[in-house]
Amino acid sequence: MNFNNKEKLAINGGEKTILKPFQKYNSIGSEELEAAKLVIESGVLSGYLGKWGPNFFGGPKVKEFEKNCEEYFNVKHAITVNSWTSGLVAAVGAIGIEPGDEVIVPPWTMCATATAILHWNAIPVFADIEDQTFCISPESIEKNISKYTKAIISVDIGGHPANTTEINKIAKKYNLKVISDTAQAPGAKDNGKFAGTLTDIGGYSLNYHKHIHTGEGGILVTNDDKLAERMYLIRNHAEAAVGDMKIENLSNMIGHNFRLGEIECSIGIEQLKKLDNLLKTRREAAEKLTQSLKNLKGLTTPIVKMGCTHSYYMYFMKIDENITGVSRDKIFDALIAEGLQGLSKRFANLHLLPLYQKKIAYGTKGFPWTSDLCRREINYQKGICPVAEKLHDSTYIGFEMCLYELSNHDIENMIKVFQKVWDNLNLL
Ligand SMILES: *Cc1c(COP(=O)(O)O)cnc(C)c1O
Repeated sequence: MNFNNKEKLAINGGEKTILKPFQKYNSIGSEELEAAKLVIESGVLSGYLGKWGPNFFGGPKVKEFEKNCEEYFNVKHAITVNSWTSGLVAAVGAIGIEPGDEVIVPPWTMCATATAILHWNAIPVFADIEDQTFCISPESIEKNISKYTKAIISVDIGGHPANTTEINKIAKKYNLKVISDTAQAPGAKDNGKFAGTLTDIGGYSLNYHKHIHTGEGGILVTNDDKLAERMYLIRNHAEAAVGDMKIENLSNMIGHNFRLGEIECSIGIEQLKKLDNLLKTRREAAEKLTQSLKNLKGLTTPIVKMGCTHSYYMYFMKIDENITGVSRDKIFDALIAEGLQGLSKRFANLHLLPLYQKKIAYGTKGFPWTSDLCRREINYQKGICPVAEKLHDSTYIGFEMCLYELSNHDIENMIKVFQKVWDNLNLL
């Protein structure tokens, strides 16, 4: 018995398939360096003033980057902010949320999607996700609507557009606003239009981990002039400007400093030019993976719905242990042991965070849930989002495509790892 050590699973003492780390994703180059240098040489690193006047909308690079985003995404207004978290806060404030209003949000997303609601003392209500796209389920949204519901935040999670057509229909029926969190799906399309531009307000993150970035940053997009005005105000000390601007609706006109600087915007201008190519490379890698991995029994690879394109921030997979005969956790450990990087078996079940389980947000006494503002008991217990919970507990694995520059060799190695583990499932 002389087993070839290469064929033996690494977790069982065999040789690892992948020996060297994947190259880190880096989209920053000489173009960004040159752009930032010019701004630094000008000495003007921000063109903003926090009062009404010519400098209320920022300096030349802010305006140029916003104009380029408006053209690229084909929207009336693109508004830069210092993070997409800030962008979400500005969006929720802009739609005229009242304290105690309910906003429906999925649990399978980054935590800021839901805390933006709490920021305005409104109440997040979690709706479940679709098993296929991992995006918020229109059916579950409708089940979670109460007479206090004001809005929906839908998330184009992992890079696939949410079912905005259905979500917008529900919103119309119940007179709700819709915000798209498209942080992970810049450039993804739904019937030829960009995800993020199909709802009242949408937007993209520009943090270091996203497809294109400025270190930190975000872009809000909307076709609604009134909402845009309110977001420009929330971005830059609204309370100091509303008087001079003769703004009548003062609700949520508590401004912040959400301004993005000139250096970041000069970098953003260069990054935006690269987005199409970056997406193309990533899609090719994902499609190659899918071509091979889809044949493994019990493994579900990402779907791309008809009429949609995917930005592949994440490569979401599922394991059906009834078919593999081996648990997700054991398979996960075996894949990791082969040297596969960027794999995770947890994504997010926000409703299970201590914040929601203990309902402690502002202060120690349970505000806003214990106050009169919150007009009904909100349930965050395990069981409210069965699809998201099952993925978390037993079926999900995801590959963080966003972390790496994958060569063809890396993709082939990844496929080898999966093939090897699947060839040896009986030995796990
Ligand atoms: C990254 C991300 C955010 C937050 O964006 P920042 O720019 O880091 O504040 C919000 N939602 C989702 C889905 C994200 O991926």
